[in-house]
Amino acid sequence: MKTFLLFLICLSNSLIGQRSHSETAVQIKNNGLEELYAFEMLKDLTGNIGNRLSGSKNYDKAVEWGKLILEKAGADSVWLEPVMIPHWVRGNEQAFLSLLDKRKIELSVCALGGSIGTAKNGVSAEVIEVKSFEEVKQLGRKAKGKIIFYNRPFDRTNWSPFQAYGGAVNQRTNGAIEAAKVGAIAVLVRSITPAMDDEPHTGAMRYADSIPQIPAVAISTVDAEMLSMELHKHNVSSVHILLSCKTYPDVASFNVIGEICGAEKPEEIVLVGGHLDSWDKGTGAHDDGSGVVQSVEVIRLIKNLKIHPKRTIRAVLFANEENGLKGGRAYAARESNKKEKHIAAIESDAGGTSPRGFGVSSDSLKVEKIKSYSSLLEIVGAEKINKGGGGADISTLESLGTTMIGLNPDPQRYFDYHHSNNDTIDKVHPRELELGAIAMAILAWAISQDGL
Ligand SMILES: [Zn+2]
Repeated sequence: MKTFLLFLICLSNSLIGQRSHSETAVQIKNNGLEELYAFEMLKDLTGNIGNRLSGSKNYDKAVEWGKLILEKAGADSVWLEPVMIPHWVRGNEQAFLSLLDKRKIELSVCALGGSIGTAKNGVSAEVIEVKSFEEVKQLGRKAKGKIIFYNRPFDRTNWSPFQAYGGAVNQRTNGAIEAAKVGAIAVLVRSITPAMDDEPHTGAMRYADSIPQIPAVAISTVDAEMLSMELHKHNVSSVHILLSCKTYPDVASFNVIGEICGAEKPEEIVLVGGHLDSWDKGTGAHDDGSGVVQSVEVIRLIKNLKIHPKRTIRAVLFANEENGLKGGRAYAARESNKKEKHIAAIESDAGGTSPRGFGVSSDSLKVEKIKSYSSLLEIVGAEKINKGGGGADISTLESLGTTMIGLNPDPQRYFDYHHSNNDTIDKVHPRELELGAIAMAILAWAISQDGL
């Protein structure tokens, strides 16, 4: 009888616990959807500051903005964490296609992030189209003095644009290295997007120490198709590329951090975050303005309800995800020396569209525990929990044993906008953006109460 009574007490406690989680979840949802404040913040960030490339004046402004907006959201404490970040400046960029039929066509291009510039008058050369590094290798001496044109498109048959991106992006990141190995003088890279548009999509590229550095530009998918067609007609004379981009010495900057201090176990941290920097195209509305304002909104929603998490909920707006990951690395390096324990980190860096769920990188027990919150997340359509996921910034916390969680929004349109002038606020829907913030707040709240 005694055991049975104890069982009943435990059962009712756990039911009350569950009920209080779901009551809180509904309150968070109602408050978020009533106010749609994440979108107000995103309007402010993209409208008054714009894009935020590492090392730029706009990034400095974004740091000030981040500090103020976290204070306004009601964070118990807000601080700036110093970090050295790269400083690459785009400058002028131009490319022309000269055809044997005497036409000269301006190509829609932009320098890839980190590229060196060309000589003052640019470079001109014949163009060779390839779809893989294997083809580049096979070119051997034929590539000497030429421009290599990488034109492998997104695999449209893949349901997941993120996987398709993964299958195409090495042309952008490593294309210059592979082309320089066989003596090419520059690379043109088909924009890494499934969209057929006339905007070049930028992104990070790299060089290798022992290989000559050559200029690298992205070309719009429309112009990539056109160039490919002219090459197949044997109508191309040459392409001329002029870039004045340049890398300057690293500059001192900051991650921006704000938190709600845990009432019972303040040293245990549930992190929510996104990256404050963006490329210098569009206004970085989806990438990653969305993740930034959603992380701040988590703090605001919980403070608004006047509820106190048992563990600390901390929002981190990371510096320099796009071309260095210096913010994430500096954060993890400092944390490894502290007594704090990051039990979970939730990153939003996949756009501000409707949330579908979360991807979780941890042991099976913890993945199952997160899966048990599906019923709470259902109210915003974010109940799908998959094993595997996270984000670039929080990947630095892996060695600290942190459970890494990535918000998974609907992925179909993200790469249409990604790293291009198309990434602007008009592509973000206020309700969809808010639903993502609400999903993050519900999950962060549940973990902060129950531990992991
Ligand atoms: Zn991003």
